[in-house]
Amino acid sequence: MSLLPSKTQASAQVTDSFTPESATARQQSQVVTARHTMVVTANPHATNAALAILKLGGSAVDAMVSAQLVLGLVEPQSSGIGGGAFMLYFDQHKQQLLSYDGRETAPSNIPDNIFIDKDGKPLPFFEAVVGGRSVGVPGVIALMAKSHQQHGKLPWQTLFQPAIELAQKGFVVSPRLHTLLTKDAARLSQDEAAKAYFYDNQGNAVAAGATLKNPAYAHSLTLIAKQGTAGFYQGPLAKAMVDKVSRHTTNPGYLSMQDMQEYQAKLRSPVCSDYRQVKVCGMGLPSSGGLTVNQSLALLANSNLAEMGPNSPESWRLIGEASRLAFADRGKYMADPDFYQGPNLNLLAPEYIRQRQNLLQPGGKARAAMPPGQPDMAMPQANLSAEVSIEQPSTTHFAIRDQAGNLVSMTSSIENVFGSRLMVGGFLLNNQLTDFAFSPKQAGLDVANKVAPGKRPRSSMAPTIVFKSNQPYLVIGSPGGSRIINYVLTTLIAHLDWGMTLQQAIELPHMVNRFGSYELEAGTAATKFEASLKAMGYEVTVKDLNSGLHGFIIDGNSIISGVDTRREGSAATLD
Ligand code: GLU
Repeated sequence: MSLLPSKTQASAQVTDSFTPESATARQQSQVVTARHTMVVTANPHATNAALAILKLGGSAVDAMVSAQLVLGLVEPQSSGIGGGAFMLYFDQHKQQLLSYDGRETAPSNIPDNIFIDKDGKPLPFFEAVVGGRSVGVPGVIALMAKSHQQHGKLPWQTLFQPAIELAQKGFVVSPRLHTLLTKDAARLSQDEAAKAYFYDNQGNAVAAGATLKNPAYAHSLTLIAKQGTAGFYQGPLAKAMVDKVSRHTTNPGYLSMQDMQEYQAKLRSPVCSDYRQVKVCGMGLPSSGGLTVNQSLALLANSNLAEMGPNSPESWRLIGEASRLAFADRGKYMADPDFYQGPNLNLLAPEYIRQRQNLLQPGGKARAAMPPGQPDMAMPQANLSAEVSIEQPSTTHFAIRDQAGNLVSMTSSIENVFGSRLMVGGFLLNNQLTDFAFSPKQAGLDVANKVAPGKRPRSSMAPTIVFKSNQPYLVIGSPGGSRIINYVLTTLIAHLDWGMTLQQAIELPHMVNRFGSYELEAGTAATKFEASLKAMGYEVTVKDLNSGLHGFIIDGNSIISGVDTRREGSAATLD
């Protein structure tokens, strides 16, 4: 049987074939073991900054602020204060899990057809991305301030010092940043500020190993350090962002001073459900991450993955089919919950899961199509259509444990590699609005994730904390566009079902199925499954699958790191 993707599935495969933050050389893995503190981030400068803050007696949230500010400098392709983030926070003393939503919002005068061309067709992706059109109100600073108010120990200004100093004195450009700058030169150097900062007069990207100073970023951070959120959401910096977006000569956007001023980070309810002996907790809507990971796991609860093991094609058929089922529901039912009240947690209801499990048919074949199911709706809404948005891999995940045992699991993003390619105040602005569905309607029906003023685009970010006997056990997350969901899912299965260490689980070659076609990680043993998956009826593609899985396990008295060798991450401890 050959797998015939439905129309939606086919278009997903075309649009999702971009991988702008592409793979770079693999690094060696180094596992760090600790007893108290742990920091794992995508870049050693950020790891060191977080560690320095912990050393001063700072909390996990204090260390998060410093790590994020440094990441915006040294890994500008992935995240920064011009973007948004989701954070899971575990308060050890209160034994409480909180989740913070710092997702970008759509400007208040945005039309719902912003990503449609004059003939009524969705814009080509990069026509939408590059310029002001795709820029949402950034949420990172508000998330940092809100969580620091609750869980910070050190003064706000102190947390800005590592990034300000590094921006002034300069940091050594990493091979990955250099490679990505070279690949993106045509788009990124359209912006004068980005061109002047990243490229020389001949248009060559700053070399790997060169020292790059960013006085503009130091200046912006000094302002925000002194004035708090007002330094970012009001005044000259906000004005510079608004001007950059709204006065873009070829592709202006809608950001206004009022949009900036009204931005709020939000506390959301985490999404938790049981799997095997543990409880897996993730980020709720507007990120689809927690619901889609947890629904995939729930669908697999009756499958004996442990016995079949990672070398069995049948294991991968079941994982792939469970993921497809969850992605089908994600496409139809998941969006900003302040705008669309879909089934939400009813997607995890036992009766509904049983119905959907029937579609994981025995018989060893891929299903030709995987339509969304019919869960109970929290508030029934008629006629919603399934939709596919195009999320591109360019994001960062980091994990922190402080001396008191508090935990941060945070995924942060400017969306595409180098975001909208607009640079203001030494940082890049996001293109997160392209995470909305480009078409507000499909086949005449409304789409849940359509553009609306003030709305947050649906995300796939999946910062995760797993609990065992009610105590935190595993902290994990990844970049990777909507493949984040699969990277986190298979890492959990590899550890929980197949008994791999976290590092082994992270290094397991990726095999991803979201919409029908199976993607296998190029240059790895995953490609050995090509023939057996084809025989099951899957279309198979072999490609770079560039995760950035970072986290740790807390096993009794040992905390053991996991760092993705596909990027430039590092782990370190104080003890
Ligand atoms: N924009 C995506 C999201 O919010 C993340 C992109 C990425 O992981 O690179 O889900």
